[in-house]
Amino acid sequence: MAMQNYDAAVIGSGISGMTSSLLFAKKGKRVAVFEQAPHIAPLFSGFDRGGVHIESGFHYSGVLGKDEIGGLLFKELGLNIPVELCSQDGYDDAYLLKSGRLFKFPFGRNLFEQRLIEFFPYEKEGIKKYLNLVYDQLSKIPFLNFHKRKYKNEEFFCFLDDKITLSEVLNNCFNDEEIKSLLSFSSVLYGVPPSKASFVLHCCCSGIMFETVWKIKGGGAALVKEFKRVMDNSGISVFCNKKVIKIEVEKDKKKLTFSDGSQILCDICISSIHPKEFLKIAPPETYREKNVRRIQALPETDGFFILYGKVKDGVRIDTNNMGFLTEDSFKKDHKNAYYVNFSNANPQTVCAVMAVDSAEKLWNISQSEYEQKKKEISQQIKDEIKKRKPELLDQIEFLGIATPRTQKRFVNYYGSYGIMHAADGANLLPITKVGGLFLVGQATISPGLIGAMISSFLLDKIVSRAENKNA
Ligand SMILES: Cc1cc2nc3c(=O)[nH]c(=O)nc-3n(C[C@H](O)[C@H](O)[C@H](O)COP(=O)(O)OP(=O)(O)OC[C@H]3O[C@@H](n4cnc5c(N)ncnc54)[C@H](O)[C@@H]3O)c2cc1C
Repeated sequence: MAMQNYDAAVIGSGISGMTSSLLFAKKGKRVAVFEQAPHIAPLFSGFDRGGVHIESGFHYSGVLGKDEIGGLLFKELGLNIPVELCSQDGYDDAYLLKSGRLFKFPFGRNLFEQRLIEFFPYEKEGIKKYLNLVYDQLSKIPFLNFHKRKYKNEEFFCFLDDKITLSEVLNNCFNDEEIKSLLSFSSVLYGVPPSKASFVLHCCCSGIMFETVWKIKGGGAALVKEFKRVMDNSGISVFCNKKVIKIEVEKDKKKLTFSDGSQILCDICISSIHPKEFLKIAPPETYREKNVRRIQALPETDGFFILYGKVKDGVRIDTNNMGFLTEDSFKKDHKNAYYVNFSNANPQTVCAVMAVDSAEKLWNISQSEYEQKKKEISQQIKDEIKKRKPELLDQIEFLGIATPRTQKRFVNYYGSYGIMHAADGANLLPITKVGGLFLVGQATISPGLIGAMISSFLLDKIVSRAENKNA
C-alpha cells in the first residue's frame, strides 16, 4: 500500500503543535498532527479523578483580552476562547513568612506599584526602577507588540540581548531580601531559578501578568476543545498513540516512522517536542555537531511533584493560589519551592506542588524505589502544609500524585517546562539545516501558553518570508 503523504506533518499536539497545524492549514496545506499520548494536548487537557476534573498544565495567563496579544493570536487562528479576568485585587497569595504578612498579587501597573510601596515603603525608588525596567523590556519584544505598532518582517527575528539575569536586576534595584523573594517567586512558574533566568524571559512569562491575568472558562480542556473544533473544520487530521521514532530525508520529502512500525511522507515536518528528544529522532544532518553538543548540554527545568486533591464536601475555601516565601527563598533560588494552587476553572480542586530535581536518573528507577520516593515526597508536602496552613490538611481529600515520571509518560520529558532558558545560553531557533524541517514549542521562545503560541507564529513568519523570496 502507498504511504500516506501530507504537505505538513506536526509532531506533538501541545499548544504549539496545534497552533502550527492551524497556521499551515491557513496556507492551504494538507496537515496531519501526530501525538504520542493517548489523547490530544495531554499537558493542557487535565484529567478526571474522584468525580472531579483536575487541571494539569494550565491555570492562568497574562494578556488574553481581546485587544491584547493573546486574544489577537486566538482571533488570528479563528478560535473563540471563553476567557475571564481573575480577581484584579489578588490572583496569587504570597505568604511572607519572615514578617508574617500576606501579599496579594494584584494586576494593573498602578495597583501593583502601590501595593509594593505599601509593603516596602523603604524600597520605593527600587520598585519604580524595577517596574520601568520590566515595562521597557516588554515594549521592545516585537511579538508582544505587533498589535500596537507595525514592524518590518526582519524585526521579528532580532532577539533581545538576554544576558542579564533576574537576580542581577533584583540585586540592583533592592536591598531587602523579602521583596527580592516576592518578585522572583514566579520563576518557579517558568522553571528557571532567578540566578539563571534571563530578565527578558522573566518579563515574557511574568511581566505579561503585571497588566492583566486571565483564566479560561472551563479551563485548559475548554481551550483544547475549541482548538480541536477549528482544526476539524480546517480539515486537519489528528492521530493519537502515534509516537514518532525516526525522521528521515528522502529526496525532497521527509519520512516519519512511528513506534508501531507505520510510516508517512511529508514535505514539511514541524516538531514541537522537547529538543533533546528531537535530536534522537532527527536525521544526523539536522544540526552542526557543535549545535548538537550545545542542545545536549542544555539544562532541564526542575520537575514538579504534585499532590492532586479536591476540597471535601461541605467545605468552602475562599482563597487564591498560595506561595510560601522564607527569608532566604531568593538567595536559595527558590530551591524546593512549595505552592498550593486552587484551580481557576474549578476552585474546589487543588494541586499542592513542590519543585523537585527532574534528572532522569532520579526518576527512571525500579518500581519499588519509585513508590518509596513518592511516599517520602508526599509526606514532605503534607508536613509543609501542616507547618504553614494546618487547617488545609483536614479540608482537602487527596486523590493522586504526579511526578516527573508521570510527566515523562504524558509528554515525553521530565522537567516541568522542558529545557531551561538560561541567561548564558543562546535561544533555539525554529529553523534547522534540513530544508522544511522545523522546531517550535516552549523551548524556542518561552514556556507558557503565550510563549508556545508565539513560537509557532514566529515559524509562520519565517516560512512566509521564504515563500515571498521564492515567489
Ligand atoms: C504543572 C504545570 C502547570 C502549568 N501552568 C501553566 C499556566 O497556568 N499557564 C501557562 O501559560 N502555562 C502553564 N504551564 C506551561 C505550559 O503548559 C507549557 O509551557 C506549554 O503547554 C508547552 O506547550 P508545547 O506545545 O511547547 O509543549 P507540549 O505541550 O509539551 O507538547 C509537546 C507534545 O509532543 C508530544 N510528543 C513528545 N514526543 C513525541 C513523539 N516522539 N512523537 C509524537 N508526539 C510526541 C508530547 O506528548 C506533547 O503532547 C504549566 C506547565 C505545567 C507542567
